[in-house]
Amino acid sequence: MDFNFTAEQTALYKQIVAFAKTELDNEHAAERDRNQTFSRELWGKCAQHKLHALSVPEELGGAGLDSLSTTIAMEAFGYGCEDGGFVFAVGAHHFATANPISTFGTEEQKARYMGPLCDGTQVGVNAMSEPGAGSDLGSISATAVKDGDGYRINGIKTLGTNGPVADLALVFAVTDPEANAQARLSGFIVDTKSEGFTVTERFESMGHRTVPLGELKLDNVYVPAANLLSGREGGGVGMFNHAMMWERVGLFAAHAGAMQRILEQTIKFARKRVQSGQPISKFQGVSHKIADMKVRLEASKLLLYKAATQLDTSRMASFDASIAKLFTSEAFVQSAMDAMQILGGVGYLTGKFSVERDLRDALGSTLYSGTSEVQRNIIAAWLGL
Ligand SMILES: Cc1cc2nc3c(=O)[nH]c(=O)nc-3n(C[C@H](O)[C@H](O)[C@H](O)COP(=O)(O)OP(=O)(O)OC[C@H]3O[C@@H](n4cnc5c(N)ncnc54)[C@H](O)[C@@H]3O)c2cc1C
Repeated sequence: MDFNFTAEQTALYKQIVAFAKTELDNEHAAERDRNQTFSRELWGKCAQHKLHALSVPEELGGAGLDSLSTTIAMEAFGYGCEDGGFVFAVGAHHFATANPISTFGTEEQKARYMGPLCDGTQVGVNAMSEPGAGSDLGSISATAVKDGDGYRINGIKTLGTNGPVADLALVFAVTDPEANAQARLSGFIVDTKSEGFTVTERFESMGHRTVPLGELKLDNVYVPAANLLSGREGGGVGMFNHAMMWERVGLFAAHAGAMQRILEQTIKFARKRVQSGQPISKFQGVSHKIADMKVRLEASKLLLYKAATQLDTSRMASFDASIAKLFTSEAFVQSAMDAMQILGGVGYLTGKFSVERDLRDALGSTLYSGTSEVQRNIIAAWLGL
């Protein structure tokens, strides 16, 4: 096994870190977080490095990167950009909307929708969760019923990342209520300006506050049959799970990048802060916490890289993606808490250090893309349990 990046991957990492640090306005990240501001200007800038579509083939407008290079680029993005909500918004758009359309879309769908999803002009939302259906996709109740040359979609979708500002929604709805759990749902590409499509609420959240998160209502929304993802009914669950598998690696690589940033800030602080006549880094109670943060980071990266290399090729990819997601999210929470403890009282203040924001952001990571409990269910199922 070769654990080294290629020269291209090292250059890619450096380029994206430099771009994020200089172009993505880290100085105002705390203010945007406080005001729940989503920046369309910064969104547009990310197109310079095709951050909305790193793994999408070049001919569709993406960067055409392999899955490991995509993961490395996301890690760099999460490291360089201190606005975790913004990174999350771009990553969710990439892995849960652009990726499934580029992977499963018909030629016509790809030609029509991928350009604006890749070049920073459009924002996408993946609309699966409902007020009555989160972990259990078998409870999805939104329906898509045939009407002439298309479908009428009715239902409420909740917790949609980017929902309140999205131009395009990838909506999952029941097309065959009699079918088994795997075949009940289909995916639809829906223009959010369609008649009957409304944003019913923009939520306020404890973390990732710069990403607009909302509830969407589809009231008899007409969608032409040409917008049925893949052109076939019944593949919704498989396509959604494929998207989640990518998200569990790509988005969580950005969290590993954030963990690297938090580690560096914590080391710097611990070396500088003096108590009882010496830097607090000299207290074993502090240095062991930092050592554990480093171990968690390295283990997260190795699991993510391993899962990444499987994404395009292996039948086992979803197993490895769930292991990587579970470990990285729980490591992210623990390391953010350790950093807060080491910074002491000043870490708890808002706007002084980014650690309180990082901790609020980290806490969501054990929930979205499938909760920790759901990841353990997936891992146990792969083990035949
Ligand atoms: C920041 C954020 C962004 C999100 N973005 C999106 C998005 O873009 N699109 C979208 O469709 N959804 C999105 N979601 C929703 C997310 O996918 C769900 O919150 C998640 O799947 C869990 O569903 P739930 O919240 O309904 O919790 P529930 O499914 O009701 O679970 C509640 C608790 O019960 C546990 N539980 C449930 N079932 C089981 C089981 N079988 N075994 C063991 N424990 C179980 C869960 O692990 C959890 O602890 C987002 C959520 C958050 C927090």
